[in-house]
Amino acid sequence: MNRLFDMHVHTTSSPDAGIPEEELAFRASSNGLGGVGFVAHVDFHPMDYCVGAFRADSYDAAFERALAESDAGLRLMKGIEIGEPHRFGDQIARAVAGRSYDFVVGAIHWVGNQQILDPDPFQHGDPLELVEEYYRELLTMTRTCDIDVLAHAGICRRGMCRAGMDVSFDETALWPGLMTELIDSLIQRKIALEVNTSGLRRPEAVTYPTQKVLSLFSTLGGRMVTLGSDTHSDPWVFYGLSEGSRLLRAEGIDSATVFEGRKPVAVPLP
Ligand SMILES: [Zn+2]
Ligand SMILES: [Zn+2]
Repeated sequence: MNRLFDMHVHTTSSPDAGIPEEELAFRASSNGLGGVGFVAHVDFHPMDYCVGAFRADSYDAAFERALAESDAGLRLMKGIEIGEPHRFGDQIARAVAGRSYDFVVGAIHWVGNQQILDPDPFQHGDPLELVEEYYRELLTMTRTCDIDVLAHAGICRRGMCRAGMDVSFDETALWPGLMTELIDSLIQRKIALEVNTSGLRRPEAVTYPTQKVLSLFSTLGGRMVTLGSDTHSDPWVFYGLSEGSRLLRAEGIDSATVFEGRKPVAVPLP
């Protein structure tokens, strides 16, 4: 039987998450997952909650503990989620010098000094202008950074929703050229598009990216995707993976990607 892999799981190696690696590995086995991709936040935006908190040594040690204690049939992968890698390259390089990871996730949480998961930036000026700027940042990151996965594209909906705004806009209709450029860049650079299911447990009730974006991705020939719950704490551990898998299948995508030593491996979706 094919099994699901959760490629976006935070542990106590991130300051905003509450469950250790070995406990999550145990739960993944109990839940019948095929594997887990852990990610630790590596953030250097001076205003970020996680700024400078990443400790490569203790993350390595925690990962080794989880490997030693987990079921042999469970695949564990060690990843990092880098915030705005195109802006903080030098600090990031120092933080991860001499380390190796199974996969590197690139994420945008900040556009300039505006935190796009917060409501505030959307309450000043035109919210869709900020969303467009956010996508331009994604494009710059995707074109210039050494990453394996593009995290949670469209998570700006979280800030908008918290500001009480309608988030039913369709970025593929508003900015077709920009979205096509972004997807083409993912395909050319062999960067996987993450289907992040954390939005399904929030009022916006959509994946990041939305099905419309997944549909454009598939139409343009994109096939490399990861599934990730963005687990941080209970009760949302591994939440929404089956729904994410269903959306992918509906768009004609029948496998998801996992990584070993930064090499992608396709695994069939259940
Ligand atoms: Zn993130
Ligand atoms: Zn994350």
